[in-house]
Amino acid sequence: MPRDRVRCVECREPIPDDTRVCPHCDAVQPSPLLDVATVVAGVFAFVFGAILALMTLGTTRLAGFMLLVVGFGLGVGGYTRHIDRRAGRRGR
Ligand SMILES: [Zn+2]
Repeated sequence: MPRDRVRCVECREPIPDDTRVCPHCDAVQPSPLLDVATVVAGVFAFVFGAILALMTLGTTRLAGFMLLVVGFGLGVGGYTRHIDRRAGRRGR
């Protein structure tokens, strides 16, 4: 894994890896781990929902479809946030 210096999302100052709040401007730093967890949870919900929607009928199938939608939203949302952050880090 490439060692990327962590910088504040607001003022671009280098900050320690585990800092949640920037010491320079007090901006709360988004956690990349949270994104990963969101995407993983989304994928799980999506797969589980797909299985339920395909393998079952009635209310369970409906619940499966809902899981599918929620999982898709979580996965895409987390991934988009991750991409946004990478793009912002590269320059703006
Ligand atoms: Zn800052």
